[in-house]
Amino acid sequence: METLILRKEQLPQFIEHLRREYRVVGPVKKGNLVVFAEISKAEDLQLDYVTTMIPPKKVLLPQRETILKFKFENETPKVEQPAVDGKIVLFGVHPCDINAIKVLDKVLIEGEFKDPYYAQRRENTVIIGLNCTKAGEYCFCTSFGTGPGAKDGFDILLTDLGDRFLVEVGTDAGKKIVEGFKELSKAEDADIAKRDEILKKVAESIKRRIKTENLETLLLEKINDKIWQELADECLACGVCTTVCPTCFCYGVIDRVSADFKEGERIRYWDSCMFLEFAAVALGGNFRPGRDARLKHRMYHKLVYIKQQHGVFGCVGCGRCVEFCVKHIDPVDAVTRLSGD
Ligand code: SF4
Ligand code: SF4
Repeated sequence: METLILRKEQLPQFIEHLRREYRVVGPVKKGNLVVFAEISKAEDLQLDYVTTMIPPKKVLLPQRETILKFKFENETPKVEQPAVDGKIVLFGVHPCDINAIKVLDKVLIEGEFKDPYYAQRRENTVIIGLNCTKAGEYCFCTSFGTGPGAKDGFDILLTDLGDRFLVEVGTDAGKKIVEGFKELSKAEDADIAKRDEILKKVAESIKRRIKTENLETLLLEKINDKIWQELADECLACGVCTTVCPTCFCYGVIDRVSADFKEGERIRYWDSCMFLEFAAVALGGNFRPGRDARLKHRMYHKLVYIKQQHGVFGCVGCGRCVEFCVKHIDPVDAVTRLSGD
């Protein structure tokens, strides 16, 4: 993998270089939070962030999008599929979120059903990752090997070495970008050693851990454990945990039709398996009427079912579902209690 150096004072020019071809979306400060938003200059970026509340998946799978519009003209329906956004650089994406996008790719592109809207956005998107130089209170990425350093899934990967960024090139798209920016210099062995030292320190600082060995077997054995009811008694079924999760992809679809039935649009929006209505079916049936069933389903989907279906864990240990849950309901704590460790 090609390794280069971008000096920090060159960042504004590098962003300008990207903006010639792409819209650039990166972490920016908003109130007390950091959010992914479009930037117009390097100064907008908040690259020392730990975690955003809403993950960058919102760019690839928007919270709400019109997937088709229809109109009747002389009794004939005319259907139009709105164009998806143009070329985007997702800048400063942390390794857990890069790995979450890999999970979404497996489910929404490589799975049984291809999501054309997601696939097209993904094709238009370049990922410039940013290795973590500090961990948050709730992170447990080391359990899944999804952080604090990224191994793949990026086009370009940056590591903040203090006065400069180490630049690693992961794909042809990344190569084209760095080749078009002549100011980069070659990295030395010392730069790579410094990256490794930073990542080792961050990894050592992460104390929260899920034992992934035999996790599937453990959870399937404990499917009727009383812990699920105990956690459900705390849970408010608000759905925040799924909204902030970088690998949650479930959505609902509604049609908005004009009063004269002549035109309308089909909208999809993020849904949540934590909501009572999510598994409701006709004639008043519901596959998961209880909060215990819904909470258990969420945890099992992340830790068992996605692994069974797609070969990877559906959790990347970003910690958002714990941090932003008002009750701090925690998969690490749940698994630790179940395993008796
Ligand atoms: S965020 Fe917490 S309280 Fe809300 S649904 Fe999820 S687990 Fe329950
Ligand atoms: S389940 Fe929680 S910790 Fe795991 S990826 Fe989703 S939000 Fe992050």
